[in-house]
Amino acid sequence: MKKQIVETDVLIIGGGPAGFATAIHLADLMMKNGEANGDSAPIKLPYKIMLLEKGGEIGGHSISGAIINPIALKELLPDISISDMPFESEVKKDEVHYLSENGKITFPFTPPYFGNHGNYLASLGKITKWLAAIAEKKGVQIYAGFNGSEVLYQNEKIIGVRSGASGIDKHGNPMDNYQPETDIHAKITIFAEGSRGSLSKTVINKFDLAKEKNPQVYSLGVKEVWEVPEGNIEEGYVAHSLGFPVDSKQFGGGFIYGLRKNLVSIGLAVGLDYADPTFDTHHAFQIYKKHPFVAKFLKGGKIVRYGAKTIPEGGYYSIPKLYADNMMIVGDSAGLVAMPSLKGIHLGMKSGMLAAQTAYAALQNQNTSSQQLSMYEKLINESYVKTELYPVRNFRQAFDGNLYTGMLKFGTQLITGGRGFGSEKLPAKEDYKHYRPLKSFNGDTFMNKMKDELSFDKITTFDKEMDIYYSGTNHDEEQPSHIQIVSTETCQTCLEEFGAPCQRFCPADVFEIVEDTKSKKKSLTLHPSNCVHCKTCDIKDPYQNVIWNTPYGGDGPEYGTM
Ligand SMILES: Cc1cc2nc3c(=O)[nH]c(=O)nc-3n(C[C@H](O)[C@H](O)[C@H](O)COP(=O)(O)OP(=O)(O)OC[C@H]3O[C@@H](n4cnc5c(N)ncnc54)[C@H](O)[C@@H]3O)c2cc1C
Repeated sequence: MKKQIVETDVLIIGGGPAGFATAIHLADLMMKNGEANGDSAPIKLPYKIMLLEKGGEIGGHSISGAIINPIALKELLPDISISDMPFESEVKKDEVHYLSENGKITFPFTPPYFGNHGNYLASLGKITKWLAAIAEKKGVQIYAGFNGSEVLYQNEKIIGVRSGASGIDKHGNPMDNYQPETDIHAKITIFAEGSRGSLSKTVINKFDLAKEKNPQVYSLGVKEVWEVPEGNIEEGYVAHSLGFPVDSKQFGGGFIYGLRKNLVSIGLAVGLDYADPTFDTHHAFQIYKKHPFVAKFLKGGKIVRYGAKTIPEGGYYSIPKLYADNMMIVGDSAGLVAMPSLKGIHLGMKSGMLAAQTAYAALQNQNTSSQQLSMYEKLINESYVKTELYPVRNFRQAFDGNLYTGMLKFGTQLITGGRGFGSEKLPAKEDYKHYRPLKSFNGDTFMNKMKDELSFDKITTFDKEMDIYYSGTNHDEEQPSHIQIVSTETCQTCLEEFGAPCQRFCPADVFEIVEDTKSKKKSLTLHPSNCVHCKTCDIKDPYQNVIWNTPYGGDGPEYGTM
């Protein structure tokens, strides 16, 4: 079987809010200018728009909090009223707490950027499914279960993306169910892959788009959805917390949202710039659920879903150049998340709409050069994407190793328009560079300090194996591992120096250190079929010895309502 070649005008990689906002707005611009043919579905657009999503179903890989600022949805779909959008509830009550091991102090006022008045609680999976149905009616061709596995170039310019072959065994040989790859050639390719996009990363590196920028830094968010007895939580209730179980040397906090009277979204997000190689975000989240303030919301309930994903938090100074010849980057792949409010959905959508505006002008001018597409960055800088990100441009860098000094620095930023009393641009360093060797902790590590807390009752707290079950994750086990270890020798060095932090940072038990019974030699065994596609391994490995690629299209978690 030979590989297929398909042609389109615009190719969007990723079916998240940013990808669908791009597709819908581009289709609308074509229709508004009277170029679309007819008004019954499926509409034939004058330029083809194609969207690839690696999840088997749209929404299957979507995970967020989520509190949504509806500004971008209102702009994208002005004819649809808020009451017809698939939100769970309006935010009705907003609290911020500082947690100690057993107690809490409630902030007497809502700290700046933590207020959610006018925002809505939602399941991102539901939102993306709904957006997909709208996009499809407008003539967008959507291919769920298709990964973008490789960027295609001609004369050093992007000409599209390859969607990988399937039905290959671990040694690379085709099996009976072999399906060849498909090359999709496009005039413009738009990367909307979310956090640490596997193709976006290669493109940013190839064209040096992050030159002179701060490196991107991330948090890992671990989340569960629970069905609870009515009365445990109010619909529209929002609580954010700082403190326990996150150490004051770390950046992070918990969230509890009352999606409905009996449905709770609960999670913990922790910055990946921690130093302790034994820190484990999944385990910290289980400990968080045992805190008396948190446990009361879950009492008598049952877990429905589990998932994890990284969040790009570097902010304004970590945004790469957003375009090159024939391509643009939108949403989380571009790092468009506002901190400390932890909101990326509306900014990702707005960036998609601006990329659509740029793509439409480029198609009409028959010019997709970098110079023409620079319009996109100009539009971003004139939009609320910049006005939201610029005043908090130094926020995340201020929390470099201490919560309390971070809060003080943030206070100075608030009164100086974001600059603070330091330099205009606070630096950042890659998350993996923050590790300290295990020995330097003299036993004072997360794993030792928390060892009595690390028993999981399988009622409120779960080990990773059980949580993976609740993520609905499924991969064809025959395929070559989509998680690549660059050098197994480096794993040995890592074991000695850092104790193999891959076992801890992965929230899905993909990495296991196994001891040979005879030789007692320890080595790494991979379980790629557990992977929930959070990309932490690609970010936090101390030697950058792990590369995350897309597995077969359709494989991965099945989040449904996350
Ligand atoms: C725990 C957590 C809580 C959050 N809370 C909030 C919140 O309350 N409010 C808020 O506004 N934001 C929140 N965010 C951030 C928000 O979810 C993101 O900013 C937003 O989802 C970004 O949208 P996106 O379309 O850029 O990326 P995504 O939503 O990540 O979508 C990207 C899509 O691309 C697909 N994809 C990736 N690579 C490929 C490929 N190579 N080929 C094909 N498909 C691919 C993925 O499967 C995915 O469906 C939170 C994030 C997390 C993890």
